[in-house]
Amino acid sequence: MERTAVKHKTGFWDVVKSLGSGLSLTWSHFLKAGNRRTPEYVSDENYFKQKDGLVTLKYPYEAIPVPDNGRYRLHNEIDDCIVCDLCAKVCPVNCITIESVKATEDIGTTSDGTKKRLYAPTFDIDMAKCCYCGLCTTVCPTDCLTMTPVYDFSEVDIKNMVYHFTDLTPEQAEEKKQMFAKQQEEMAAAKAAALAARKSNK
Ligand code: SF4
Ligand code: SF4
Repeated sequence: MERTAVKHKTGFWDVVKSLGSGLSLTWSHFLKAGNRRTPEYVSDENYFKQKDGLVTLKYPYEAIPVPDNGRYRLHNEIDDCIVCDLCAKVCPVNCITIESVKATEDIGTTSDGTKKRLYAPTFDIDMAKCCYCGLCTTVCPTDCLTMTPVYDFSEVDIKNMVYHFTDLTPEQAEEKKQMFAKQQEEMAAAKAAALAARKSNK
């Protein structure tokens, strides 16, 4: 069977035409790059009108706005926290650790008027474990636990991903624990004395 060689004939003007076509595309993008797109959120009506121009941002000097309902880093406004433990109980990944101590004195109210009866010597949230489900903020009775718009908080040391929200220094925490233990002892002694007095009167 005779084979026929297929010859591609490329003339000088074909090369020029091909080069011109490629370079015109490059130049058109180069010129459009002078029009920078502004950092707008996808729901902004101008978002899809900005078709040409650089799409990359000078992060961190520029950033795309985050949506209002975005779920990012948690914050606990500890003065409004009643240390009820609901957030820790509902958390599916156990990344909230709370230690509570009963107050022996009046420690005031939260901004919504709820009486505070507990201190929180430990209120830690491990954001490295958090799956950003938002359940903890949903159950919080005083709305003190919120998800902030802060999303850029990477750390070299993973231990720094644990956020501490305690309202006490270690010394104050120890003092409150001792005060509570002392109050318990005094109450137990008073109860025992009352029982003994009741028995002796019979
Ligand atoms: S957002 Fe979800 S995973 Fe993160 S702390 Fe709250 S309940 Fe836990
Ligand atoms: S649910 Fe709210 S009030 Fe209760 S411990 Fe958590 S942050 Fe505090």
